[in-house]
Amino acid sequence: MNIVLMGLPGAGKGTQAEKIVAEYKFPHISTGDMFRLAMKNETELGLKAKSFMDNGELVPDDVTNGIVKERLSESDVVNGFLLDGFPRTLKQAEALDNILSALNKKIDAVININVDPNVLKERLSGRIICRDCGSTYHKLTNPPKNEGTCDRCGNHDFYQREDDKPETVENRIQVNLKQTEPLLNYYKNKGVLFNVNGEDDIDSVFGKIREIIEK
Ligand code: ADP
Ligand code: AMP
Repeated sequence: MNIVLMGLPGAGKGTQAEKIVAEYKFPHISTGDMFRLAMKNETELGLKAKSFMDNGELVPDDVTNGIVKERLSESDVVNGFLLDGFPRTLKQAEALDNILSALNKKIDAVININVDPNVLKERLSGRIICRDCGSTYHKLTNPPKNEGTCDRCGNHDFYQREDDKPETVENRIQVNLKQTEPLLNYYKNKGVLFNVNGEDDIDSVFGKIREIIEK
């Protein structure tokens, strides 16, 4: 099954992706994670993405489409994949259709996690990530079970994302809001769009997502 997870920054895509991947074993393809890794490794891609990410802007479509095309040509996607944070523009959605039709594939479900923008700011300001395994937590709404220790890998080192600081968060939400409506219409017209209420607790949201996947 080929799935796209949509939602504004902080809606819970990464959190739900972790759960989906644990249960269904789809490869998790997050363009944000790919850019962050490239930045950390100071590759050419990382250098290209950095200024856009630092300002909360979208990385240009040609760069983003290129890395997705490359990733989707790898062999582990044969039985399905989970795209997280891509596509984010109509142009990217059209490019994705072209990439997939060349591979004889299509998107089966687009799961859109809906959260009010005012809630997102709280979510992003409290987001902490395990430096070792990348698991995502929230200081208040979703802390590790044992304070300071990652549930998944037991490590003790957490960080906050550079682009989660308040100055960048507002722009990221606005930039993404502008792009979202046409994208949702695009997938609604194709009959593959499923909306879930992302303001419910994490397990309830996952329950709804599971129902969609099982259907
Ligand atoms: P995204 O990948 O969409 O940017 P994340 O999955 O990183 O969002 O979630 C953003 C923050 O909100 C994280 O700190 C996460 O722990 C928290 N979070 C995610 N889903 C929920 C939820 N349903 N209720 C409360 N907090 C949540
Ligand atoms: P995310 O981890 O999904 O919140 O993405 C973090 C940042 O990476 C975004 O603010 C963008 O700068 C960049 N990015 C991630 N995915 C895309 C995309 N599909 N198109 C353009 N830029 C992206």
